[in-house]
Amino acid sequence: MASHNLAHIKIDDLDIIGYSIAGEETVVAMPQLDVCFDIGKAPDQIIPVNHVLLTHGHMDHSAGFAYYLSHRNFCGQAAGTILAPENLLPAIRDIIDGWTRLDGNQLPANLVGVKPGDEFQIKPNLFARVFPTKHSRGSVGYTIIEKRKKLKAEFAGLTGPQIVELKKKGAEIDNPLELPIVTYLGDTQFVDFSQLNYITESKILIAECTFYIDEHAERAHAGRHMHIGEFVQLINKLNNQHIVITHTTQRTPMRDIRRILKDQIPPDKYSRLILLMDRNS
Ligand SMILES: [Zn+2]
Ligand SMILES: [Zn+2]
Repeated sequence: MASHNLAHIKIDDLDIIGYSIAGEETVVAMPQLDVCFDIGKAPDQIIPVNHVLLTHGHMDHSAGFAYYLSHRNFCGQAAGTILAPENLLPAIRDIIDGWTRLDGNQLPANLVGVKPGDEFQIKPNLFARVFPTKHSRGSVGYTIIEKRKKLKAEFAGLTGPQIVELKKKGAEIDNPLELPIVTYLGDTQFVDFSQLNYITESKILIAECTFYIDEHAERAHAGRHMHIGEFVQLINKLNNQHIVITHTTQRTPMRDIRRILKDQIPPDKYSRLILLMDRNS
């Protein structure tokens, strides 16, 4: 039996499986893209995903990375790749060394330190782009971008052989095209992410909205998390077709969160919202 009963969302041909409750555990995988954003306590279902993209070091987001590496090894899978803010790599290496001593077995790992502006290739046409968030030192978010080539408009009427002929002559017939598929913010206080076009235009936004009532505004500020007022401000600036809310607090019942969202989110945005943990009452 699987270790976790994960939430499962399907958006067009993409599955999103995960679990995300503030302070408890956050892990959000998209198997078709071969990425898992944060790792939580390493649910069984995400072990086969080849890339773990850590946003920051808080335990509820990162606790399971050593188990992920170990269990892949145990199942005969290739070493997992873990992207993490570069300032966390020494601590991650220390933990891997500690587990190697404790367990007696090497933990094969492909560790990649990242900083804002970096890009990492996930698949031939798929890249993870790194951007800064405001939560803890070095914290980052990720956008998964598909890169394609599009025939330049001036060549649109040409036949196949004519295009081949042009290519032989060394002509640049394509323009690069970037399709941002999903942006994962991780934990963050409000930042005007609309300044980054690939976030504004991501088909899917996975965003934290931790707190919902006025009394929790100070708590949101202190923990560098988003409060509903800031969340509304943020999504009003973005064009995402689907918005998945993660990291909801347990201090507010899910039925109240549903009602508050309906009251405070403009209808055209509300229709795009999905609460990851909506099954909880
Ligand atoms: Zn968190
Ligand atoms: Zn955190």
